[in-house]
Amino acid sequence: MPATVAIVGRPNVGKSTLFNRLVGKRLALVDDTPGVTRDRREGDARLGDLEFTIVDTAGLEDADADSLSGRMRKQTEEAIRAATVVLFLIDARVGVTPLDAHFAEIARRSGRPVILVANKAEGRVGGEGAYEAFSLGFGDPVPLSAEHGEGLSDLYDALRPHVDEAAREDAAAGAEDPMRPLRIAVVGRPNVGKSTLINTLIGQDRMLTGPEAGITRDSIAVEWQWRGRPLKLFDTAGLRRKARVQEKLEKLSVADTLRAIRFAEVVVLCLDATQPFEKQDLQIADLVVREGRALVIGINKWDLVEDRAATWKSLREMCERLLPQIRGVPLVRLSGLTGDGTDELLKAVLEVEQTWSRRVSTSQINRWLEGVLERHPPPAVSGRRIRIRYATQAKSRPPHFIVFCSRPQSLPESYSRYLVNDLRERFELAGVPIRLTVRGGSENPFDPKG
Ligand code: GDP
Repeated sequence: MPATVAIVGRPNVGKSTLFNRLVGKRLALVDDTPGVTRDRREGDARLGDLEFTIVDTAGLEDADADSLSGRMRKQTEEAIRAATVVLFLIDARVGVTPLDAHFAEIARRSGRPVILVANKAEGRVGGEGAYEAFSLGFGDPVPLSAEHGEGLSDLYDALRPHVDEAAREDAAAGAEDPMRPLRIAVVGRPNVGKSTLINTLIGQDRMLTGPEAGITRDSIAVEWQWRGRPLKLFDTAGLRRKARVQEKLEKLSVADTLRAIRFAEVVVLCLDATQPFEKQDLQIADLVVREGRALVIGINKWDLVEDRAATWKSLREMCERLLPQIRGVPLVRLSGLTGDGTDELLKAVLEVEQTWSRRVSTSQINRWLEGVLERHPPPAVSGRRIRIRYATQAKSRPPHFIVFCSRPQSLPESYSRYLVNDLRERFELAGVPIRLTVRGGSENPFDPKG
């Protein structure tokens, strides 16, 4: 599980506004989780390079006064229970009210780490309320204006150690539960054969589930097993229906594609072997990389290919040349129509998931870094050398590395690319997106206060 951040506080302190700001454009993906009342919302949030799940209790703002306190308390407690860290909001303009103190008590008793946030603090520094806020016992408040987007970098600093820590614990939990279904999406241009392939893959075993949290109501998930491993496939409503009712040439829906990619851990990009690597194919591959998912490219309709050896050779060359950002991505020849190659496809899917989830120990990374610095030290910029001090893997799924150096802004993009390529080669991370963040200072991210 990634870090879960709960936004907690009495009504009207701005929880919803902060929720929306952190979830941003991804709001479209937020849906009511089945089985959970509308009192709590969940979304995928991003703040700088931090990614986490965010939960708020904003629905309660509308509850009538009578039922409010009990439900609100219950919802707050549940949100906190699921949280890695709690953002406790107060209204900086009002100061601490008895109701704030009441909720603070709930937060404190949970034993979860609490970050106190003084919201609606636009334009003010510190302010009279600061001492009062301090009395809640959560330390100094982070001044913020959720509405105007001020103070987000302080919020980032406060959240970062908790989010990083959750990622490390996640990794330390080791191999994922093998019975948890692996989430797969099949994407591609219209008519490359996605629906046909999906129908072949799931065969008779199909079991319809969903609607799922986080995906829209008109999409469903299909669950089945392959060699004992449960797999879950994202299926937009039209996809399988289309295989039965042949429609006119459809346009590619980028929104649907993006939704499918975000749902998935591993994305199968389906190409038509007779028209491979068209512009749209490359755009979709790029979306997958940007979203940080593992990728397998299925070369579909292989049954139509005549000169197979030559085609295969040229496909591999094209792939290396056109998708350098995901070097080594697995290519699988298949036919959704005949079923040839579908076992190889699923094998590649499971393998790339392993790569995508790989953890490299900090000592290995730093040994690698030493070698790199010797062979190819970072350039001097404005006459001064940039010193790289330390590196670590902050996250997997996809692998995300952090490099600490002096003057991070000056480190050339080309050098970061060099580091990524070298990491990919040295730690056998072929075919998965690699994230690299360059941070200033020499802080040790293993220090929880760091
Ligand atoms: P989608 O739009 O990507 O879902 O594509 P469809 O699955 O609807 O397939 C488009 C057309 O390609 C249909 O006429 C299919 O019969 C055909 N098709 C799909 N897969 C294959 C394949 O592996 N080989 C051949 N020869 N034709 C295929």
